[in-house]
Amino acid sequence: MRWSQSFIPTLRDDPADAEAVSHRLLVRGGFIRQLSAGHYSMLPLGQRVRAKVDRIIREEMDGIGGQQFHLPALHPAEIWQRSGRWEVMGDEMFRLVDRKGADNCLGMTHEEVFAILATELSSYRQLPQIWYQIQTKFRDEPRPKSGVLRVREFTMKDSYSLDIDQDGLDAAFEKHHGAYTRIFERCGLVFADVQASSGAMGGSESVEFIVPSPAGEDWIVTCATCDYRANLERATSKLEVVDDPDAVEATERFPTPGVRTIAALAQLDPVAAAADRQIKTLVYSIDHELLLVLLRGDHELHEQKLIDATGTVNIRPAHPEEIQAALGALPGSLGAVGVTDLPVIADEALAGRRGLVTGANSDDWHLRNVDVARDIDVGRWADLRAVASGDSCAADGGELRLWKGIEVGHIFKLGTKYSIAMGATVQDENGASHPIVMGSYGIGLERTMAAIVESSNDERGIVWPVSVAPYEVVLTVLRPDDPEVERAAQGLNEELLARGVEVVLDDRLERPGVKFSDAELVGIPFRVTLGPKGLQSGMVELTTRLGMATESVDLGDVAGEIATRVAAQR
Ligand code: ATP
Ligand code: MG
Repeated sequence: MRWSQSFIPTLRDDPADAEAVSHRLLVRGGFIRQLSAGHYSMLPLGQRVRAKVDRIIREEMDGIGGQQFHLPALHPAEIWQRSGRWEVMGDEMFRLVDRKGADNCLGMTHEEVFAILATELSSYRQLPQIWYQIQTKFRDEPRPKSGVLRVREFTMKDSYSLDIDQDGLDAAFEKHHGAYTRIFERCGLVFADVQASSGAMGGSESVEFIVPSPAGEDWIVTCATCDYRANLERATSKLEVVDDPDAVEATERFPTPGVRTIAALAQLDPVAAAADRQIKTLVYSIDHELLLVLLRGDHELHEQKLIDATGTVNIRPAHPEEIQAALGALPGSLGAVGVTDLPVIADEALAGRRGLVTGANSDDWHLRNVDVARDIDVGRWADLRAVASGDSCAADGGELRLWKGIEVGHIFKLGTKYSIAMGATVQDENGASHPIVMGSYGIGLERTMAAIVESSNDERGIVWPVSVAPYEVVLTVLRPDDPEVERAAQGLNEELLARGVEVVLDDRLERPGVKFSDAELVGIPFRVTLGPKGLQSGMVELTTRLGMATESVDLGDVAGEIATRVAAQR
């Protein structure tokens, strides 16, 4: 390919709104262009990289017995109603009405459609199956950001395993775990597999593949001394025991003028109202109904844990007017003692606690002597607390650390929710009917591309690993108008192509500085510089993008040398 004939619109300046490195470099390098917030065009270089990620994924999926499908992106509402997710998916689902007045949506994921296809299976003899596709997904994300890291329209490899029983599912899950490990290794990524929440999908075991990066939106908790690693959405830590009195007297109101925060109340009475002796009362609107959420005063709520516990994504903190109307007080003086008309969910750290302090549902008043079991009608207990950095590991007591990362892949054990909803059953060897046990597994292709850029770049630009580079080598021709140089470049180009190396020939009539900086920005792993001076003695320069080491190589040897190195790194 000749650079002069290619569409590689590199930019000197960063796009104004870009913070993430991958966003800046993919735009500047001419890989992507934004059409609107969360929607990007893949330009030719971006398309080449994505195609390589696509191929790696297909090879590894085929390697575990996967069969590729391609399903519709537009779905009738009816199938999502049947699984119960038409409501659950909330505002994240793009919905549209067709000319007949029928409701439709754009697929955010494809459990429903694959489960419908699975109704054509009838016998355990046809199992196991692994079905996958690589296809566009649509999600109306509240905050599309960071270039292609979080968008509203993206390509996902989603696969689904179909088994007769839990053992089969466990095996399919392990196969995917292995395939994902190989996929991300081949993409040149450093990553961790961490325990995760199953979110709105339902199901049990769930593991995410996370690439450490400040541009990520996931917080990961790892133990300094054992191999515990989990997404903060799911992580737990050891709870230090707080000493409570054996019995407490009846609750008692006391004035707390102007006190609106846990810290202010603790300051007023550092012993009896220490933060770990207070109850934090939050009010949430869950599916349009109010819910009281209780935590220990020094603990923070993790909203995803509340989503998991309530099974809906339609949650938001209640507005002060809603709270005032329901409880008669404003945040800062709220409590659950005596509340009978609103449901209460409490964090496990409050179980069995006595002698606590909480708001009295009357501004400027609090209650003391609260015995949680005696005084509060807790409808549900759940793990709602966010682990904090420095907490102790529940497994071995080691120190927990928090770090940020990008979720590039997610595997989870779904179970039978979708097969039951769609009626996908098979008969076992005795003729008894069983719902198919499913697993569901996803990788975002553009997000993976961006994660590679986040973890492999320098001040000059992107440093693509050979395995996913848009081209493997760039021939930088210093004097394309010199027939000698042009002939040598053309010869080398052909020799490299004959050896199966992917080459771009930079024949543009540009200054060498422009060509060098473009090649470095775009991140092509090898560069051969051909100029009249070197060629007089039959030499060219070979530069390796990673580390920018340059060596002088015989023109006659350079194609073989590159072909060897490229083959070793593919
Ligand atoms: P997130 O928590 O980041 O929103 P998710 O849990 O919703 O991700 P899954 O439903 O598990 O993601 O989707 C599988 C994969 O699809 C993710 O691991 C990620 O690589 C990719 N992905 C999900 N949402 C987006 C998005 N908005 N933009 C780009 N890629 C995405
Ligand atoms: Mg999401």
